[in-house]
Amino acid sequence: MNSDSIAVIIGGSHAASQLIASLRQEGWIGRILVISDEKQLPYHRPPLSKTYLSGEKTPENLLIRKPAVYEKLNVKWLLETHVESIDRATKSVVLGNGERLKYDKLALCTGARVKKLAIAGSNLSGIHYLRNLSDAEAIKKDIKHGGRAVIIGGGYIGLETAALLRKMGMAVDVLVHSSRVLRRVTAGPVSDFFTRLHSQEGIQIHTREKPDSFEGDKQVESVICASGKRFLADLVIIGIGVTPNTELAEACGLPVDDGIIVDEFCASEEDRDIVAVGDCAKHPSSIYNRFLRLESVPNASEQAMSAAATMCGKIKPYAVVPWFWSDQYDIKLQMAGLNDDYDQMVIRGDIDNSRSFVAWYFLNGKLVAADCVNRPQEFRLAQQMLKNGINPSPEELADDNLGVKQLLELIE
Ligand code: NAP
Repeated sequence: MNSDSIAVIIGGSHAASQLIASLRQEGWIGRILVISDEKQLPYHRPPLSKTYLSGEKTPENLLIRKPAVYEKLNVKWLLETHVESIDRATKSVVLGNGERLKYDKLALCTGARVKKLAIAGSNLSGIHYLRNLSDAEAIKKDIKHGGRAVIIGGGYIGLETAALLRKMGMAVDVLVHSSRVLRRVTAGPVSDFFTRLHSQEGIQIHTREKPDSFEGDKQVESVICASGKRFLADLVIIGIGVTPNTELAEACGLPVDDGIIVDEFCASEEDRDIVAVGDCAKHPSSIYNRFLRLESVPNASEQAMSAAATMCGKIKPYAVVPWFWSDQYDIKLQMAGLNDDYDQMVIRGDIDNSRSFVAWYFLNGKLVAADCVNRPQEFRLAQQMLKNGINPSPEELADDNLGVKQLLELIE
């Protein structure tokens, strides 16, 4: 690498912002060019479904780093610019206008896009998805105290926006096509807790309701489900998951399988001058012994540090315990590890009558994950235990009479 070397980053979100900073920290002395189809510099997405919708945060508050920081880091931006293809033979990216830009190292931080619900009436106004700042702007205009909102999807977007709209005085129905909310990310008892929580706050959650069409004259007025039920709506938010943006990688011959396949250094084994980071990347996890594609801000940021080292010719394997969080009302849900494969779950605390507990997950006697509700100390403990492979017994972890200090002693 020399001062003429150029690192091109495609995508301008959390992964890109961290990658820029980490590239300079790792000693990248060449140029850095970021090409993003968004209008803004990288901004925090988590507040979009919370404090941004409520008006507590402005677009300026959301910026991950101020423009002056990027200036200091000597970064060039091509915003509102679409990359059409990657030509690996000439090491260049081709823009929508046909222009070709050379790279020495290329980072794919292309993220993910929302899955769309293709049913009759989808083009009516008042129907929204939530991924970008512009989506949040559009939703904000349709929030009306005393109005009716229908949320489709019982995942993070669905429940976080439901909580916020309720707080802002709307009547809210949540339609879940399967048997329970948060099915992708947690176990039945924790889903039940969240259903109870939302109903205590005045939200109606309807399971096994599959939207079939939207009705209205220009503006949405109702959602009709396959069951025949009709839900009145002034505003609809659809949060039914995301699809990773892998098309550029696939078209230039990189291995893709529900994510751009990379190694533990975030590099494509097919072309080590290309790294992929964040929601679009699928990496091997030494902790879970399989490939993972994680949709989370911590994953994007921490992978970026490893990718930056790789781009600078250094070695910094990515091997962190996945973690996630969600804020709903006065609840902070913090999840450490992955709970999609377990054979035992125990609860610490009163999941039925309080707003504070931990669900610990085990597979073959080994701790694999913990969902912590308003239990930040246990969350940090869980992260340490998972990182260091420490396995207290399910009985010990379930015993709420053992203080966190005593639990700490168990692992020391
Ligand atoms: P999600 O968490 O995957 O939840 C999707 C929800 O939609 C689930 O309830 C799912 O039900 C349901 N669903 C899936 N296909 C459907 C269909 N065809 N019709 C009706 N319902 C359907 O995704 P999300 O809530 O849309 O969030 C999008 C992304 O933003 C995710 O990457 C998420 O991690 C991220 N995000 C994270 C946070 C956070 O970490 N706090 C906050 C907001 C957004 P089943 O699972 O039962 O099939």
